[in-house]
Amino acid sequence: MPVYKAPVEDVMFLLNDVFPIERYNNLPGFAEATPDMVEAILGEGAKLCEEVFAPLNLTGDQEGCKRNPDGSVTTPKGFKEAYEAYAAGGWMGLAAPEEYGGQGLPSALNTIMQEFVSSANLALGMYPGLTQGAIAALLVHGSEEIKKTYLPKMVEGVWTGTMNLTEPHCGTDLGLLKTKAVPNGDGSYAISGTKIFISAGEHDMAENIVHLVLARIEGAPAGTKGISLFVVPKILVNGDGSLGEGNGVSCGSLEHKMGIHGNATCVMNYDGARGWLIGQENRGLAAMFVMMNEARLAVGVQGLAQSEVAYQNAVAYAKDRLQGRSLTGAKFPDRPADPIIVHPDVRRTLMSIRAFNEAARALVIWTALNSDIAHRSSDEAQRQSADDHMGLMTPVVKGVLTDLGFEMAVKAQQMFGGHGYIEEWGMSQFVRDARITMIYEGANGIQAMDLVGRKLGKDGGRAVMAFFNEVAAFCQENAGDENLKGFIAPLEQGLNHLQQGTMWFMQNAMARPDNAGAGATDYMHLFGLVAMGYMWAKMAKAAHARKAEGNGVAERMDAKLTTGRFFMERMMPETAARLACISAGADTTMALPAEAF
Ligand SMILES: Cc1cc2nc3c(=O)[nH]c(=O)nc-3n(C[C@H](O)[C@H](O)[C@H](O)COP(=O)(O)OP(=O)(O)OC[C@H]3O[C@@H](n4cnc5c(N)ncnc54)[C@H](O)[C@@H]3O)c2cc1C
Repeated sequence: MPVYKAPVEDVMFLLNDVFPIERYNNLPGFAEATPDMVEAILGEGAKLCEEVFAPLNLTGDQEGCKRNPDGSVTTPKGFKEAYEAYAAGGWMGLAAPEEYGGQGLPSALNTIMQEFVSSANLALGMYPGLTQGAIAALLVHGSEEIKKTYLPKMVEGVWTGTMNLTEPHCGTDLGLLKTKAVPNGDGSYAISGTKIFISAGEHDMAENIVHLVLARIEGAPAGTKGISLFVVPKILVNGDGSLGEGNGVSCGSLEHKMGIHGNATCVMNYDGARGWLIGQENRGLAAMFVMMNEARLAVGVQGLAQSEVAYQNAVAYAKDRLQGRSLTGAKFPDRPADPIIVHPDVRRTLMSIRAFNEAARALVIWTALNSDIAHRSSDEAQRQSADDHMGLMTPVVKGVLTDLGFEMAVKAQQMFGGHGYIEEWGMSQFVRDARITMIYEGANGIQAMDLVGRKLGKDGGRAVMAFFNEVAAFCQENAGDENLKGFIAPLEQGLNHLQQGTMWFMQNAMARPDNAGAGATDYMHLFGLVAMGYMWAKMAKAAHARKAEGNGVAERMDAKLTTGRFFMERMMPETAARLACISAGADTTMALPAEAF
C-alpha cells in the first residue's frame, strides 16, 4: 500500500519564513489565521488526508465508478463516507464567506489543503474541488436569490457542483458549442444538449448536484460572444429551499479512462432541463472564467500533488530495495547489497523530484496569497498588482506544474524498476492519474498560448514587467550576499534568457504569429524555471536566516539549501535550451505540408 504524509512542516516554513502570513493581517480573514491556528488547521487536514482519503486511493482506482440501469452512479466503496467526513469537518467552506456558512479563512489555506487532498486521493478530491470552483463562480456572478438558494448547501457540502463546458465536437474552441437555452417565460430557461467528460456529473455523495452549464440562448450570435452561463440543479429547489422534483438532466454513460477511476466522468444529457441565467446574457464565458481560473490553479496543484506522493513512495522504496554496491565501496557491508539510494543516478532522480516539489509548492503558495490579496484587499493598487500576478501565473502554474508533475511521477515510478509497472505498488496509478492534469482545464498547449498570446501583452505588458522588475530587484539587493552565492547568478542568467525570449517574440511574432505558436510551450517552461528559481532564491534566504536554530531546524535548513543548489546547478541551465528553441522560430515546424505527415 503506498504511503503518504502531508508536508505540513514545509508549508509552515513557507508561511512563516518565506511569505510570512502575518504580513497580511490587514486582509479580512487573515487576523484569525495566526501561525499556530494555521498549523493546527493544516494538522487536522493532514490527518483526514492521510488516514481517510489515502487508504481509499488504490481501492478506488481498482473499483472505479459504476453507472446503474436507472442512470444513478455509485462511487467506490468508502468514498461517500470519506466525502461526508470532509464536509462535516467544514473543509468545503474553509475560505467561503461566513454569511453562507463558511469560515472566511484565507483561500491560500484551501489551496494548501487541495495539495494534501490531491496527493492522498486525486479522484476523490475532485468532487469537493469542483464544488469549490462552482461556489466561487456563483459568489461573483450569481444574483442574490441564486446565492441564497444554492450557496449555503454547497458550502455545507450537502450539494456538490460541476462545470459543463465540453461537447462532443468542441473542447478548446467553445465558440462552436451547440447546447441551447430557450426562455420558459418565467425567468427560467429550457436547456437542451449533450455535454461530455463532465467530472463528478453524477454520483451518490450528495443530496443534489448543481451543474454550471454553458449554452447558447436561442437567437444569440455565433461564436464565443453568444454563450451564456446557467445554473441547472439535478433536483429542482422549491421556494422554501427544500428539494422538489427531478430536473431534465441525466448521466447517459460513464467514460472508461486511463486514470482517476474513482471520479465519475459523465456524458450529461440535458433534455429541456430548467436552468437559470448566471450573470449577463452572452457573457457566459467571462462568468465561467472565474471557475476556470480557480480550477486551473487547482489543477496545477494536482500536478504537484501527484509528484509529491510519488516522490515519497520512491524515497521509501529507494531506502529499502537492495541492489548493487555503492561506487565508492559497500555502505552496508553486512547486507547482501546496498539500498539503491546510494547510487548517484538514483539520487539524481530523487533530487530532481524534490527540487521541483519544493519550488512548485512555494510558487503555488505565493500565487494563492496573491489571489487572497486580489479578492480581499481594500487598496486598489495592491488589488490590481495581485490580480496581474494571478493572470500571469495561472497558465504557468497550470501548464508547468502539470507537465513536470507528470514527468516527476514517471521518474518516481522508474525508481521501482519493473515493480513500478505493476499495479499493486500504486506507482502506475500516480502516473495515470497525473496524466489528465496536462489535458483538462485547457490542454497545456492552450495554457502556453494564453501566456504568450494574451498575458504577455495585456495592459502594455504591465504584469510581466512587474515580475521581471521584482526578480531583478531581488538579485540586485542580494548580489553581495555570500550565503546566496550559488543562487543569484543562475537566477540572473535565467531571467536574462526569459527577457531575451520575450523580446524575441516582440520582434518576431507580431508579423508572423506562427513564431509565437511554435515557441509558446518553450516560453511557458522557461517562465516556470525562472519563477521556480526565484522561489528557490527566496527560500534560500529564509533558510539561512534560520540556520542557527536547534531542534533539528539547522539540519532541515541545510537540506533545503542543498536541494536549492541542486535546482540551480542541474535544472536552471535548461533556460538556455528553451531560449534556443524559441529563437529558432517556426520555419522548420511549419515547413512540411499537412500531407507530408
Ligand atoms: C477525465 C476528464 C475530465 C474532464 N472534466 C471536464 C469537466 O468537468 N468539465 C468540462 O467541461 N470538461 C471536462 N473535460 C474536458 C477537457 O477540459 C477537454 O478534454 C480539454 O479542454 C480539451 O478539449 P478536447 O478534448 O475537445 O480537445 P481539442 O480541443 O480537440 O484539442 C486537441 C488538441 O489540439 C490542441 N489544440 C486545439 N486547439 C488549438 C489551438 N488553437 N492552438 C494550439 N493547439 C490547439 C489542444 O491543445 C489538444 O492538444 C474533461 C476531460 C477528461 C478527459
